[in-house]
Amino acid sequence: MSKEHKYVYTFGAGKAEGDASMRNLLGGKGANLAEMCNIGLPVPAGFTLTTEVCNYYYANDQTYPKELKQKVEAALKHVETIMGAEFGSAKNPLLVSCRSGARESMPGMMDTVLNIGLNEKTLEALAKQSQNERFAWDSYRRFVQMYGDVVLDMKPKDKRDADPFEKILEEVKHKAKVQYDSELSVDQLKDVVAQFKKMVKDQTGKDFPTDPMEQVWGAIGAVFSSWMNDRALVYRRQYGIPHEWGTATNVQAMVFGNLGNDCATGVGLTRDGALGLPGFNGDYLVNAQGEDVVAGIRTPKRIEVELPKEMPEAFQQLDNIGKTLERHYKDVQDIEFTIQRGKVWMLQTRNAKRTGFAAVRIAVDLVNEGLITEQEALLKRRIPADDLNQLLQPIFDPEAKKKARAAGTLLAKGIAAGPGAATGKICFHASDAEALHNSDPSVDLILVRRETSPEDLRGMKVAKGILTAFGGASSHAALVSRQMGKVCIVGCGALNIDYHKETLLVGGKTLKPGDWISIDGFSGEVYEGKVPTKPSEVVEVLLSRTKKPEESEIFQRYAQLMGWVDKFRKLRVRTNADQPDEAARAVAFGAEGIGLCRTEHMFFGHLDEIREMIVADTKESREKALAKLLPFQRDDFAGLFREMKGRPVTIRLLDPPLHEFLSEHHLHEQPDLANKLAKQLGVSAEAIARRVASLKESNPMLGHRGCRLGIVYPEITAMQARAIFEAACLVKKEGIDVHPEVMIPLVGFLAEYKNQEAIVREVAEKVFKEKGIKIDFLVGTMIEIPRATVVADQIAKAAEFFSFGTNDLTQTTLGMSRDDYGAFIGYYQEHDIIGSDPFQTIDKDGVGALMKIGVERGRRSRENLKIGICGEHGGDPASVMFCHEIELDYVSCSPFRVPIARLAAAQAALAK
Ligand code: PEP
Ligand code: MG
Repeated sequence: MSKEHKYVYTFGAGKAEGDASMRNLLGGKGANLAEMCNIGLPVPAGFTLTTEVCNYYYANDQTYPKELKQKVEAALKHVETIMGAEFGSAKNPLLVSCRSGARESMPGMMDTVLNIGLNEKTLEALAKQSQNERFAWDSYRRFVQMYGDVVLDMKPKDKRDADPFEKILEEVKHKAKVQYDSELSVDQLKDVVAQFKKMVKDQTGKDFPTDPMEQVWGAIGAVFSSWMNDRALVYRRQYGIPHEWGTATNVQAMVFGNLGNDCATGVGLTRDGALGLPGFNGDYLVNAQGEDVVAGIRTPKRIEVELPKEMPEAFQQLDNIGKTLERHYKDVQDIEFTIQRGKVWMLQTRNAKRTGFAAVRIAVDLVNEGLITEQEALLKRRIPADDLNQLLQPIFDPEAKKKARAAGTLLAKGIAAGPGAATGKICFHASDAEALHNSDPSVDLILVRRETSPEDLRGMKVAKGILTAFGGASSHAALVSRQMGKVCIVGCGALNIDYHKETLLVGGKTLKPGDWISIDGFSGEVYEGKVPTKPSEVVEVLLSRTKKPEESEIFQRYAQLMGWVDKFRKLRVRTNADQPDEAARAVAFGAEGIGLCRTEHMFFGHLDEIREMIVADTKESREKALAKLLPFQRDDFAGLFREMKGRPVTIRLLDPPLHEFLSEHHLHEQPDLANKLAKQLGVSAEAIARRVASLKESNPMLGHRGCRLGIVYPEITAMQARAIFEAACLVKKEGIDVHPEVMIPLVGFLAEYKNQEAIVREVAEKVFKEKGIKIDFLVGTMIEIPRATVVADQIAKAAEFFSFGTNDLTQTTLGMSRDDYGAFIGYYQEHDIIGSDPFQTIDKDGVGALMKIGVERGRRSRENLKIGICGEHGGDPASVMFCHEIELDYVSCSPFRVPIARLAAAQAALAK
């Protein structure tokens, strides 16, 4: 026999069949209505049709289980008994509302119908009972309109069209010469209803339903159907809510906020949701119903300002309810209520949505008030780790952004790759950016490129933000921007950039260098013009030191919170940094070492020398060029060692394909480059061109890069190893402890690793002998191609540590180019082919499974093998949680993500 489903749960009169723990079945709203009943708060009686009904509905061609009809009728009887009224009665009618409520709240995405049960008979009774004929007609007018829009599907299909009901209402108001619908007389309302009904008949071919049971089933069907409307689908994709969850539907006795001037309806928060300041706050409207407050028809009043004066007793009730709710739920609540003749009724409570600022303040304050523990404060649902970004980056002034959006200046949307807000003048070339910055260091610039390359680095450094038309979350632009802490949007396909004409075509507009644009690295939005920004107070205290800790409440709470974070987390957090200033920033944010120093980034300032090395076609000439690079590398490493003061520093040997530094593209863009190099090397320009052409690869990412470079050109590895160990000896002699960890990139075969390791160890011994000093160091490898994970047991016999390079591991496992996937990933996400961007969040089933194999096999050979991750995923909260699960020792991420990774690591450790 099939399992008996309950399908319907009742609540009312201080008792409920459900409770707050049942949100999967009853949805958030249903579970909390039940819970509020159970703790004695005033809740109009009602019942919840479970999410199982919704799932049945979709699995069975939009029909209901057989037994549902009888269960709903019984539940309605229950409500009638509690409320002392009868559904459909011409004497004492009960009216109900029908509202959606999914497991996670999806504000405004699904549908609601109020005043169900009204027809011309019940309306008369309602008028008599309330002694308020106007109220009865007003309620009926609202019902016909809502039912028409939601159940009869008469909402305009085109966003430019007006709601047909609103059109009629406007015309009647205009004729009556009134501004608000609350000013319409009974006769005018009757006229509105008559016109509404006629339109229903005209458009649907049927009379507006008068049977209350038909009405209630119509509303239930509409609410379940709204689970699959477009808004809801888009919202779920954005927030990762599975479509399989389904929504519950709540049918609840109506209470009325539109019975007169001692009635009101409102929404409120038990603390402020923007900054987290204490105190009940919100909006209300006197003599109004349901949606009026949010619909913007009349301007609502502020609860904390007006309600204590206008309805002191009701305010008191509300304030007490707020306190009870916070004590009970141990979190800030977002409530909906109705005041009917001076009495407050609760229609909803849920944990309030909040900004990152409010999340931190509220969590810390609740601990300080003794309501929750430190562990509870750190829970992911209280502070999504990513939301810490808001405290660490400049943000747009929220009002200014709203205005910009309203003014229609939104130009395009790309992939949000570096959080924060930046506004500046358009600049297409890194060299122009540098020149502009040199002549005026205070100039605000946004570097706008089709994509970026190592040559753009200096320009990126002086720009406030970087915007590219191509590339994805681990493209050059994205990872360099993150490391520098720059605001960045990549893969913004709507941009049409013409370097030659120096124009940016977007959204039908043509912008030129010097024109202002503003980019939001949280949302990926690009705006035309200037949107003012505010600096981060945490950064002002920790980095720029323009504020003292005692001057910033936000900083104080941040510091308290991060203290708890470090108490509970197991994962260590390092940073990806190549420059001393980046390293210093990361340490201020709590980094415990460097997990990845990309040595090629250090070459950007020495392009002449590296190009000389690339075009050299004999070992001798290559060694000559390398000898020129050695002192630069040594200085760079010494700078890092000094800054890190004894913390471990993982230095990766040269990794990228050489054409990144010199290719036919460079020769083409800089016509005098070939001659310059020819002179430098004493060869002909043709010889340079030939050599450059011979370096060309069809798939450079899978070509001669990583350890393959050091194997074919061992002198490169030898030079880098020498620079590392000479710098280490130098800094050690200055009295600073050093812990270098030399990392071999792109290893797939044990022999590759051993080849490079031998060079590193040999050079180390030589340098130690020369300097008369010995340094402890490790040699290890990146694990970033699938073969390496599978043969991890072999590699770990030699390698002293592993670091997962999940950018390349994702690229090679999925066979998706990290630079080109932007072209289709948006489509994939919109069509539910892939849930999240695999270059931002680890693809657990594929890449993650390989990582698990790598960890398990690696530690099989070397029990205490130290394992970390240094791909971009190391700063992504969901990926950090995964790294904790598979027992990595550390994650490494860009400096500004260090606090986020620390928090995510604590959340992982505290998760059950
Ligand atoms: C990686 O592949 O994850 C990595 C860290 O190396 P890169 O991004 O420099 O290729
Ligand atoms: Mg890599």
